[in-house]
Amino acid sequence: MLDALAFPFNNSFADEMEGFFVPWQGDKVPDPQIVVLNIALAAELGLDPVALNSAAGAAALSGAMAPAGASPLAMAYAGHQFGGFSAQLGDGRAILLGELIDTEGRRRDLHLKGSGRTPFSRGGDGKAVLGPVLREYLMGEAMHALGVPTTRALAAVTTGEEIARNGLEKGAVLARIAASHLRVGTFQFFAARGETEKLRKLADYAIARHFPDIVGREDPYLEFFRRVRDAQASLVARWVNIGFVHGVMNTDNTTISGETIDYGPCAFIDSYDPKAVFSSIDAHGRYAYGNQPVIMQWNLSRLAETLIDLVNPEDSDDAIRQLTNEINAFPAHYQQEWLRGMRAKLGLLKELPEDLHLANDLLKACEGQDVDFTNLFRALAGSVRGNDELARAYFDDPAAFDAWAARYHTRLAAEDIAAELRAEAMNRINPIYIPRNHLVEEALKAAVGGDLEPFHKLLAVLAHPFTEQDGSETYALPAPVDAHRHVTFC
Ligand code: AMP
Ligand code: MG
Ligand code: MG
Repeated sequence: MLDALAFPFNNSFADEMEGFFVPWQGDKVPDPQIVVLNIALAAELGLDPVALNSAAGAAALSGAMAPAGASPLAMAYAGHQFGGFSAQLGDGRAILLGELIDTEGRRRDLHLKGSGRTPFSRGGDGKAVLGPVLREYLMGEAMHALGVPTTRALAAVTTGEEIARNGLEKGAVLARIAASHLRVGTFQFFAARGETEKLRKLADYAIARHFPDIVGREDPYLEFFRRVRDAQASLVARWVNIGFVHGVMNTDNTTISGETIDYGPCAFIDSYDPKAVFSSIDAHGRYAYGNQPVIMQWNLSRLAETLIDLVNPEDSDDAIRQLTNEINAFPAHYQQEWLRGMRAKLGLLKELPEDLHLANDLLKACEGQDVDFTNLFRALAGSVRGNDELARAYFDDPAAFDAWAARYHTRLAAEDIAAELRAEAMNRINPIYIPRNHLVEEALKAAVGGDLEPFHKLLAVLAHPFTEQDGSETYALPAPVDAHRHVTFC
């Protein structure tokens, strides 16, 4: 079955975009071993999971051996990190192995993170270690199951190396699948160098790849900006709807496709708290839970700046005016997407003007009450069925809930739908299971110590976040009250 390990690469970036990358190979590593393989995703990509789960598969997915048809390369990009601009970041510890057309006809990048130093590595070692690789695997799969656009892991591979992090840790590579690895920072790289023709080429490539229906329009670049804005408004709304904190929303971690990328210091909130920050390096709360829409608008403004010469080459004031209008429309788009999500979470079918206040006032009622955000919405299905006690019990001071619940019941009565149907619809989109920080940490700790069972169990539970699973009750519980405040690291 040796021949079955064939990657039917179809590489557009390597073939069409010379000057936007450096051709580059992954490091030879002593002992590549597949630790986790995403069989369903492999099949979706038209890859044979059995053939992949082999020594040759491990060598390919570690970056040690480029398979036939691969055109491995390191992409150039820049980026604003915590508000400060770096003109040159780039794939410092990753390579794009190639692109595959999946069984649905979608073009997807196969990218290896942790494959060794590249010309973009600066002071870094080019490596990744097992804990963070498994964390990214788990979070991506959880987000995918929650219906959020995201990059996904095809495999986690150990390399047989020992890498200096917190002491010596197992070297690992994440094989990552993405709609593309184009970022806001990719545009910034060429804008910072004043390379307008390259920017046009990049924008044309991005349009053809992600928004093919606008190819040939009179104003493709303004429309391109609108599309990225709308994709990101929708994405951040989903994050906020499920309590996700990305943690490092730098412009190099903001995709053009609208997929979530780079699960470093991310976490889910337990209690509702707009100020929630988990990342050890986010001292000022720039990337706090409630700040994410504002930051995304800021990141999109950085993208807009790169497009000025394309939107109107003759009159930059006019281009700036047009782009500014589109940037200014972000909050309205975001709010519409967020409210759409909140209506669904509350089981509301019609769009009534009071819904915005109703949704916001529930969150206000939660502030300072230590209410578990995820479980509250699950409990509201109880309210719909006529039992407010489930939701009420989450509040330290139930009076705050009671006042809101009275309005909720009035609002529910404005729609003629059977309570049971409504409750079921809510339960199809309000998760029971999210990757709770303490569960993720436990699973990763065991995995790094050699016991992968908790990781696989958690992965399996998170694959069906809306369905109650027998014996998985503890996975739905908030962190124990004596748990330390959760802190994440890049
Ligand atoms: P991140 O914080 O993961 O989004 O990465 C930001 C930049 O740092 C990117 O250019 C990465 O390629 C680079 N980088 C992160 N970790 C390493 C590493 N261990 N070695 C080299 N470059 C790295
Ligand atoms: Mg990154
Ligand atoms: Mg990272």
